[in-house]
Amino acid sequence: MLLFTPGPTPVPESVRQAMATPTLHHRTPEFEAIFKEARERLMKLLGMDECVMLASSGTGAMQACVINLCKSKALTINAGKFGERFGKIVTAMGKELVELKYAWNTPASLDDVKQALAENADIDSLFIQVSESAGGLRHPVEAIAAYVKSVNPSIMVVADGITAVGVEKINISNIDALVTGSQKALMLPPGLAMIGLSNAAVETIGQGQDYYFNLATEIKNQQKNTTAWTAPTTLIIGLNAIFDEIDKEGLEALYVSTQARANATQGALEAIGFKMYPQTPAMSMSTVFDEDAEAIRKLLKTKYGVNMAGGQDHLKGKIFRINQMGLIPVYESTWVVNAIEMALADLGRRDFDGTASRTFNEIYFNESK
Ligand SMILES: *Cc1c(COP(=O)(O)O)cnc(C)c1O
Repeated sequence: MLLFTPGPTPVPESVRQAMATPTLHHRTPEFEAIFKEARERLMKLLGMDECVMLASSGTGAMQACVINLCKSKALTINAGKFGERFGKIVTAMGKELVELKYAWNTPASLDDVKQALAENADIDSLFIQVSESAGGLRHPVEAIAAYVKSVNPSIMVVADGITAVGVEKINISNIDALVTGSQKALMLPPGLAMIGLSNAAVETIGQGQDYYFNLATEIKNQQKNTTAWTAPTTLIIGLNAIFDEIDKEGLEALYVSTQARANATQGALEAIGFKMYPQTPAMSMSTVFDEDAEAIRKLLKTKYGVNMAGGQDHLKGKIFRINQMGLIPVYESTWVVNAIEMALADLGRRDFDGTASRTFNEIYFNESK
């Protein structure tokens, strides 16, 4: 079965092998050397001034940012499950919330952000997804972040890049915290969250807040290549192994092939009559809105060996989402669009003539020339 959900993503064989080595104690020079290497490579990937690794799923890093970077009032962008989650965390942590809400196919508008800031001079932090995975939507994070900083540079800009880091080159010049997680573009098992931080964010964190998620405690320890609490040693070993895999062709090559796969998948799906759901699709996944979404997804799973994701909440049964994150062999992506075309034939919607795989190949190989 091909795992084509936008998280979790498959873990490459070499990475699984690396993680099968005997358990190391985390307070040893051996592990500290591994940690140091992972930290340096992560810093390079994120491109930020500081970074921390946390033993948690991605949501833990989102919460750590709310606790440590929002003093009292946050602006959040809710265009899906994950933006909604930022709002829920802010409220759960007892802070004030201003939330901009959008349909799940609609990117945040800069004008709305301008208005929210004008009406709430006391907003001290912004929380936004780069790629909102609920509808496969790309927000105009760069423009919004630049505006927020032009109004008030002390406002902390927190970007959830869990389905964007390792997918595309993100302009981090106005971002203070960039969150990512292990089980999406980094092709690791779930359980490791990572945050890139600007110097301004480190200053704002100061002595930190909270106990487990006190980012000041983590920064202090991780600068010495250790962690405050027991490190997820296996996942950190896996992180170095995935960097080894990515480095074979290089990060730039991964961005180029991800873009080519995204364009080819989208072009192939449109060529067989599908409509893309988001107004501004993220590169992390292709999201199709279709009344037969559930039937297609089921056929792919039972007949063609492909596991795609569906929708949540009001989009349950209405969309399917195809992963584009990670080091995906191109023949797998070609098979996925081909299988979808065969499913359409099974449903009597369209005679099979190979349009999807042909279109995929034409676009992909033209772009990767
Ligand atoms: C997967 C994901 C998360 C984190 O979810 P966890 O289940 O806590 O790892 C956060 N934001 C986005 C955009 C995601 O896709």
